[in-house]
Amino acid sequence: MDRPCQPDELRVQIMNEPTINAANAGGCQFFVTSGLLQRANDDRLLGVMAHEIAHQDLGHAVKAQMLGAGLSIGAALLEQILPGSGAIAPLAGTLITRGHSRTEEYAADRHAIVLLRRIGYPPEVMIDTLGWIQRSSGDQQAGGFLSTHPALNDRISALKKMR
Ligand SMILES: [Zn+2]
Repeated sequence: MDRPCQPDELRVQIMNEPTINAANAGGCQFFVTSGLLQRANDDRLLGVMAHEIAHQDLGHAVKAQMLGAGLSIGAALLEQILPGSGAIAPLAGTLITRGHSRTEEYAADRHAIVLLRRIGYPPEVMIDTLGWIQRSSGDQQAGGFLSTHPALNDRISALKKMR
């Protein structure tokens, strides 16, 4: 990242939700769904997180809030999955985010590719991730990563043109 998050400000919260989604709430706070963790392979999880980290890195302001928050994944279970994950809080509920603008989404995809390159991954990781989300999610509407505006198709072609 150009503006790295400090370890003590980084928070990743897992929502117990079957859908594939993730969001950046600003301030180095991230949300991921259990559906994403269960269904994504490593490269796709990386692609999704690269996009969300790109929003953070680019300073895209987002208001994200949880509706109906409540614990549903045991802290002990979570500790097994992610040892030492004191900063990770499980949540149940629906994530409501103000959608990013089209410009911000394209910028985050492009910056995600830059971030992936820095750690040795090709742009195809991002393109494959978007295609996978499209196939897995159909037309479902959600905030965060799955913001349907712009359409995933358009985001994929924009990335392909970039290469
Ligand atoms: Zn986004």
